[in-house]
Amino acid sequence: MTLFEKIATHEIPARIVCETADFIAFHDVNPQAPVHILIVPKRPIPRLAEAAPGDADLLGRMLLASGKIAADAGLAAGGYRLVINNGRDAGETVPHLHLHLLGGRPLQWPPG
Ligand code: 5GP
Repeated sequence: MTLFEKIATHEIPARIVCETADFIAFHDVNPQAPVHILIVPKRPIPRLAEAAPGDADLLGRMLLASGKIAADAGLAAGGYRLVINNGRDAGETVPHLHLHLLGGRPLQWPPG
């Protein structure tokens, strides 16, 4: 099982903010902004490049849910950023697809 599957099955604890039948959102253990939440499919898709057409509904629902998760975290007014790290050069460290939802401070662009 991947680390995030273990969080999704509650085998490893996390500060969960939202859970549905097929995805879960929880605070990152090493936050890079005042709000840093990970939105993760319970199914272990390794990374976005390996998602299949059949994952489209799930990925769409995760993207749509991010707005409510951000609003619930107090980010509606200030805004927020969604990031997907795909592969080594992007800084991917956990090979289980996840959206980073970051906010609560001005974020630099372009990212490093
Ligand atoms: P990646 O680098 O793969 O895009 O993102 C992985 C993220 O998972 C990192 O931001 C890292 O801090 C977070 N992370 C790693 N291990 C844990 C953990 O055990 N619990 C939580 N909540 N986040 C984790």
